[in-house]
Amino acid sequence: MTTTDSRPVSGQADVPGYILDIAPYQAGKPIEELAREFHLDPAGIVKLASNENPLGLPKSAQLAMIEASSALARYPDPNGFDLKAALSRHYGVPADWLTLGNGSNDLLELASLAVLSPGSSCVYSRHAFAVYRLATQARGARHIVVPVREYGHDLDAMLAAIADDTRLVFIANPNNPTGTFQPAPRVEAFLRQVRERHGEHVTVVLDEAYNEYLDPELRFDSARWVEQFSNLVVTRTFSKAYGLAGLRVGYAMAQPRLTDLLNRVRQPFNVNSLAQAAATAALDDAAFLRQSYDINKAGKKTLYEAFGKLGLEYVPSYGNFILVKVGDAAAVNLALLKRGVIVRPVAGDGLPEWLRVSIGLPSENARFIEALTEALGQ
Ligand SMILES: *Cc1c(COP(=O)(O)O)cnc(C)c1O
Repeated sequence: MTTTDSRPVSGQADVPGYILDIAPYQAGKPIEELAREFHLDPAGIVKLASNENPLGLPKSAQLAMIEASSALARYPDPNGFDLKAALSRHYGVPADWLTLGNGSNDLLELASLAVLSPGSSCVYSRHAFAVYRLATQARGARHIVVPVREYGHDLDAMLAAIADDTRLVFIANPNNPTGTFQPAPRVEAFLRQVRERHGEHVTVVLDEAYNEYLDPELRFDSARWVEQFSNLVVTRTFSKAYGLAGLRVGYAMAQPRLTDLLNRVRQPFNVNSLAQAAATAALDDAAFLRQSYDINKAGKKTLYEAFGKLGLEYVPSYGNFILVKVGDAAAVNLALLKRGVIVRPVAGDGLPEWLRVSIGLPSENARFIEALTEALGQ
């Protein structure tokens, strides 16, 4: 055998540098992992680390999955007809303006795949959802990370930060991990200004993973913005208020030009059959959604009061989690883990003195408060 290829046959020389530079996503610690590490009974562990729904999944979704399971030998519907029809009715958008995703995470990735490449840039906020960094990095695009204002998105600064090579802007509203929220008029003004200055050269992804937790007076109809702004993609998920995180299903609303682009880079069967059936059932389960909202609102109040008593600063949250300042967060986190309570360290998000705690059931919140009080007293 002869070869004239002098490149190393092993090693990383053929891998793009931007791939080697990826710092992988740090997920919340699974219950079983903590149980193994600290020799704890998994049944006694409280996990408030991943903004999951403490009520579990809706019964309506469970029944729909049992029925759908008899057809699992078949591939799922690649076009998600039933779920899109249900979403179309629910939000009053045409079915061909909808894209389904393997979680809304998938849709954030698809947006970055569709419009970013090496030589372009993406604008997102500091302390925003970690996936924006990953999706930008994996495309080899440049990061334009905009400082926060009061822990939240500074939309004026983000508008000003858009460069000639910017093709994508990510906005999380409410944001994770800070829980901050930008009121509808401000977001709409931002969308109008981006559109006026940059036309369709800049796609804006408005990530509304926690929309269903907003108080009624703060709600707004972002489906109407999709009609107004042809450069806008709105993403939502069934992982949080709908209680289906393990199934991985979310959706995007956008006009046909952008929907077509997302569809080009999508895996044909990206949303499995059980997820499609469960999401279709959950979408119209208003009672479950109401219960999720109510228990979250009550738990938020309980946790605010506890933080107040402990003299801890926190960021008022519009989601199903709260960012709280505990000082030496790594030490407090370890003390919580030893007591069987999993929350989320956010040092990787540039917040080394803070922890993010998901709002749980009343009993889970009580366990967390007890453990936190002990951890801080050490
Ligand atoms: C949880 C979350 C998502 C996506 O979750 P999926 O389970 O992939 O739908 C998206 N954006 C933000 C800000 C989130 O916190």
